Amino acid sequence: MPTPSEDALARLLARTRKSQAAQEEGARHLALEVVPTFSMPTPLYVELASGSRVVDIDGNEYLDLAMGFGPHVLGHRPPAVEAAVKEALGRAWQTAMLNTTQHELARLLKEASPSAELAVFCNTGTEATMYGMRVARAFTGKPAVAVFEGAYHGAHDYALIMDDPKSERTAPASRAIGKGIPDVIGDVTVRVLPYRHEAAFDLIRRHADELAAVVVQPVQNITPRADNGEFLRALRTVCDDSGVLLMFDEIVTGFRLALGGGQEYFDVVPDLATHGKALGGGLPIGALSGRADVMSLLSRGGTKEGVFSGGTFSGNPLSMAAGVAAVTHLRDHQSQIYPYLHEQSARLAAAVNGFCEAEQIPAVLMSAESIFCMQFTAGPIESARDLHPINRAAERAFYLHLLDQGVLVPGVHVFFVSSAHTPDEVDRIIAAFVHSLGQLRAEGLC
Ligand code: PMP
Repeated sequence: MPTPSEDALARLLARTRKSQAAQEEGARHLALEVVPTFSMPTPLYVELASGSRVVDIDGNEYLDLAMGFGPHVLGHRPPAVEAAVKEALGRAWQTAMLNTTQHELARLLKEASPSAELAVFCNTGTEATMYGMRVARAFTGKPAVAVFEGAYHGAHDYALIMDDPKSERTAPASRAIGKGIPDVIGDVTVRVLPYRHEAAFDLIRRHADELAAVVVQPVQNITPRADNGEFLRALRTVCDDSGVLLMFDEIVTGFRLALGGGQEYFDVVPDLATHGKALGGGLPIGALSGRADVMSLLSRGGTKEGVFSGGTFSGNPLSMAAGVAAVTHLRDHQSQIYPYLHEQSARLAAAVNGFCEAEQIPAVLMSAESIFCMQFTAGPIESARDLHPINRAAERAFYLHLLDQGVLVPGVHVFFVSSAHTPDEVDRIIAAFVHSLGQLRAEGLC
């Protein structure tokens, strides 16, 4: 007798034949097609995306919770953003020469984000954190930055120095993710700190002479939680006392936790902040913003006194137009959108966690407002260090059952509710989560 998971996989494979053929074709040309940190039972190639829905190339429709890894706070193709991009396409999509739409988006970012006195735009979050670390080193004259265990800051060399989980929790050793990153990056320029742990403050004080900045996500992707305020405030104080800049990576939290991101939500103002994702309304974008005295080093470019940044597509008119439309919409409707996201997200978290508790299923749906990550481990979870051991078999089967129910979560990854998800759809999502967890229990997986 096939198990419920085997049945679900057979159904999924039978209805996604075009996607499977597409994956074979992709593998002939591409070294890599998906980010290595998310795994689906079978690839899905998307043909249409609108509101809360995506349709794959085989014609299957899903309620989407991937939401592009976070940019689509307003859902897919929000009409205001689509109209703005079409209008911009009809005018100019040139780079190199200037466009005034950049000024508009910078004004909107400054209005929303408490720390933003000056900004620069780039194309990805990866670039934004790279520039942030560089400008912090230049401003302070110190060589290193500190990051937290469990964080993600992009794909450049400095961002790929992470926690070595085999090391002491209170004094984490670092390791590079993947080959090709020179040892010197990990040895000299990046220090890993324990997340939500007093020991981090001692380490910052002890290494204040070498640390240019502490970089922190107001909410981490893999352990999202809304009770970080005290920790972030303590971090602000320690950084101030130690002469170390504080940089918030708001690439996920910006315009999502609140219009003013984690800074507004937790009432902590960093020296520098990175934005991306939602800021671009779904088009490629990154931004670094912060204190004028620090940011003005970028104004002097690659001179002896300045900090270089650049990029052919930085500030391109299409991303700027999409960003202006999205942020204007979020600003003008913030009093409806954020309470709505709060209400629907709280409902989802409460229903799923209530079911897990009632059925004694060792899993928890971690969340901070509309940012979610499901973890198949018996809590409590304070940081990524507590995510071992994960019940991988249950985790894999769970996302498979969700897909079988027509709910798309980018397996083993952070996921999001958008303002386009209706209450009825959130009910359907809750039912699918509960059903899938029930299937795991029936199968003896958890
Ligand atoms: N920082 C955080 C917190 C992120 O979640 C991401 C992307 N997932 C990045 C940085 C990198 O952004 P991008 O993928 O646009 O380079």
